[in-house]
Amino acid sequence: MPARTGEQYLRALKEESNNIYIDGERVEDVTEHPAFRNVAKSVAELYDLQHEKPDKMLYTSPTTGDKVGLSFIEPKTKEDLIARREMFTEWARHSGGMMGRSPDYINTSIMAFASAAEFFRQGNKNGIDFGENVRKYYEFVRENDLALTHTLIHPQVNRSKMQHEQKDPMISAHVVKQDADGIYVSGCRLLATLGGITDECIVFPSTLNKATSGDDPYSMAFAFSNNTPGTKFICRESFDYGRNQWDHPLGAQFDESDAIVVFDNAFIPWERVFIVGNADICNRTYMETNAVIHMTHQVIAKNLAKTEFTLGVILNMIEAVGIEKFQHVKQKASEVMVALETMKSHLYRAEHNASVDKYGNMTPDFEPLNAARQWYPHMYQRIQEIIKILGASGLMAIPTHKDFESEEIGSLMHRYMQGANLDGYERVQLYRLAWDIAISAFGNRQALYEYYFFGDPVRMSNVYYDWFNKEPYKEMVQDFLERAKKRSGITPVKA
Ligand SMILES: Cc1cc2nc3c(=O)[nH]c(=O)nc-3n(C[C@H](O)[C@H](O)[C@H](O)COP(=O)(O)OP(=O)(O)OC[C@H]3O[C@@H](n4cnc5c(N)ncnc54)[C@H](O)[C@@H]3O)c2cc1C
Repeated sequence: MPARTGEQYLRALKEESNNIYIDGERVEDVTEHPAFRNVAKSVAELYDLQHEKPDKMLYTSPTTGDKVGLSFIEPKTKEDLIARREMFTEWARHSGGMMGRSPDYINTSIMAFASAAEFFRQGNKNGIDFGENVRKYYEFVRENDLALTHTLIHPQVNRSKMQHEQKDPMISAHVVKQDADGIYVSGCRLLATLGGITDECIVFPSTLNKATSGDDPYSMAFAFSNNTPGTKFICRESFDYGRNQWDHPLGAQFDESDAIVVFDNAFIPWERVFIVGNADICNRTYMETNAVIHMTHQVIAKNLAKTEFTLGVILNMIEAVGIEKFQHVKQKASEVMVALETMKSHLYRAEHNASVDKYGNMTPDFEPLNAARQWYPHMYQRIQEIIKILGASGLMAIPTHKDFESEEIGSLMHRYMQGANLDGYERVQLYRLAWDIAISAFGNRQALYEYYFFGDPVRMSNVYYDWFNKEPYKEMVQDFLERAKKRSGITPVKA
């Protein structure tokens, strides 16, 4: 089947009747439910965009000849990588970068897993070819243009213990039974973003946290459709309050939802299983398949779009209240401009220095991408802080559309809320957008998302430190000191 339209995506969600819960109740139809219908429409718009800009968004499937989504491509050239990044950018710009989980994010990961089928074959057993399973699953998702979420993290019960050491070792999702047909899974996983409105979910190991063999029962990778009996997606309360998009410019469109995923003896057939009972393979999955590199390529393209959008908001705010002449204002806007240019450079170097990996995929240079993913979780908090500092009381003087509609107070709002170059109505709309980026529940969830979604930045920085090639820099300084010793003509003093 060629790439889906928005209408096909929404129809599928209706028909699937997935196991979605919110506020204590099962959701009958997410496309109608107030917590999900608007964000589902936004995802549908992304699917439609594929058909509005087919040259940018689609490529020819190598198996069916259909036109399928470009985020699924197994890149063979640098041009493929650049075309794929431009596709990421189209989708990211649609929400100003506020939808972290547009389906391209997971699509890149399953593409990388499929290319690295031989990696999964290390775990083959009982005649089951896990490499073949992962390859077929990727093709199934690509040809049906499905939307996926993923869940990688164990519940937070006690972070100083492994899963098998927990006071209740049955809490984290684990394999309870295997038979000739498949595996049976019980327990819980966190935190499936977009889980309420995706077709399928993949359960994979953490990109970062390592397990020991004692945690083999928890060490697995598999895929399931979101209506699988014995599974439940329990979504957090919605930050879409059912307001119009003037009042709530982002939350009323892009609140992706985050779900706790619960398994109760859920049956997963062998053809959907990719790793089972093997902590060692799990520990190496994201790095050795290069999935983390392709995902980071998508993330940095998305973050670039987010930085463009938030910079645009900041620049409009500066003009709206005539603060462009103040030095600290320019300095703060410049910080965001520098962030934008820096992100572009990270991407350029990653693509320019790309090389073919052992699976035959043209793979971006991870060094600049990895540096960008260490840095942006902190930078995004700063962008929000800058919006707060420059917005000041304007972020609270934000009457609603109804205030402007009111016969009694509407004219007051038009007049008293005006800016240097804008009528009150236009200025408040802009400041409501700034509020939704930096202050609202939606905005604060974005801050938490950017900080944590790729893993704990503290542990990421520790892994980065260990991984970084430090020797050349240490040697440079040792050479310098050695040269100084020689040139000064002194006799070295021994201890
Ligand atoms: C908005 C949002 C969306 C998300 N979406 C997804 C998703 O779609 N799929 C998914 O799988 N995950 C998702 N996540 C989860 C994300 O991967 C985790 O938040 C992240 O890996 C950190 O894990 P944790 O939240 O369990 O924090 P914890 O590991 O519980 O950490 C809590 C605190 O304790 C500290 N800490 C804990 N253990 C250690 C340690 N060993 N060493 C040092 N410090 C430690 C941390 O630094 C942190 O300050 C999402 C998270 C958020 C906030």
